[in-house]
Amino acid sequence: MIFLDAAATTPVRREAIEAMWPFLTGEFGNPSSAHSLGSSAARALRSARESVAQILGCLPGEIIFTAGGTEADNLAVKGIALARQAADPRRRRVLISAVEHPAVSESASFLSRFAGMSVEVVPVDATGRVDPADFASRLGEDMALASIMYANNEIGTVQPIAALAAAAGRIPFHTDAVQAACWMPLDVRTLGVDALSLSGHKIGAPKGSGVLYLSSRVAAEPVLHGGGQERGFRSGTQNVAFAVAFARALELAAAEQAAAATRTTALRDDFIAEILGRVPGAVLTGHPQERLPSVASFYFPGTSGESVLLELERRSVLCSAGSACAAGSDEPSPVLAAIGLSASAAQTSIRFSLPASVTAGELTQAADAVVQSIAAVGQLHSQPTPGA
Ligand code: PLP
Repeated sequence: MIFLDAAATTPVRREAIEAMWPFLTGEFGNPSSAHSLGSSAARALRSARESVAQILGCLPGEIIFTAGGTEADNLAVKGIALARQAADPRRRRVLISAVEHPAVSESASFLSRFAGMSVEVVPVDATGRVDPADFASRLGEDMALASIMYANNEIGTVQPIAALAAAAGRIPFHTDAVQAACWMPLDVRTLGVDALSLSGHKIGAPKGSGVLYLSSRVAAEPVLHGGGQERGFRSGTQNVAFAVAFARALELAAAEQAAAATRTTALRDDFIAEILGRVPGAVLTGHPQERLPSVASFYFPGTSGESVLLELERRSVLCSAGSACAAGSDEPSPVLAAIGLSASAAQTSIRFSLPASVTAGELTQAADAVVQSIAAVGQLHSQPTPGA
């Protein structure tokens, strides 16, 4: 099996399993307990928090462990916007891009339905990029929050986050860095962001683990209420094992990031060239250079994405049509619509997302499989319909 769906999820790394194992077994304490079992859990949590903070370039107290990327996005978008509005009711606008993950766009839509806010969507160009000047022109004193993702999950386009965050100035700026984590620098001081979301299962930690960086300069209203864990911002007994696994996976990802990005970019570019050269009519989606090292996304006019996927799987290649979240939905992807694709072109889109472990041999095999699959689907399409 050739797994080219790393943007959907990744396997848990052995080192992360080994790091978390003690906290699922003998060291099972609740970090809030006063006894020794609780203290050792609290120590492990503290050290995981310190490690994540060091990699992100922030204070340990600015790290909130969450149950995944969706939760981190919800806490940031709703929490910051609600606190800003509570401090000044005139701040009722939320600015997002047209290519956000639903965890951000649906959180913004919740604010418009239940908190009287208005959501403004900054468009992207045909490559999926936000123009910083356009972004800046929409800012104002009445803005509660801006949230623009670091890298897109469907087309891999990377946004000019530092320029956008700088333009936002004193307006709180959140970025969903879930897809960027293994591939791009994550130092929040260099990026200049106030909040940043990460998901464990994209970086070799378990599904349901994640982190929100929330600057101590930015006020946020808790969304989950309860025992006051995680600075009162994310109540609920902490999942120490997952926090430890997340920290270990992030340490490895950070140590490997530069080399993995260089190596995978070269393999990705060869793969893209191979597909564009061998499949007539194939079109690359997303930015030609400013894209995740791992993502090669195309549309193949005249085919059907779903049929090509099935043909690819018959040839042992696993990938996605558009985003995994949209899989099974007949709705055209909003991301592909935002870059100007028609609904019919969007239905022919395929995303290959390479794990850092991918080899050149696997990609050669995958490219052969793509050529054969498109040919097979083309033949299916050109067969006369019985009775026609
Ligand atoms: N944001 C982006 C860009 C994603 O790609 C995903 C998952 O695919 C999420 C958020 C949600 O993360 P999680 O699956 O950990 O809830």
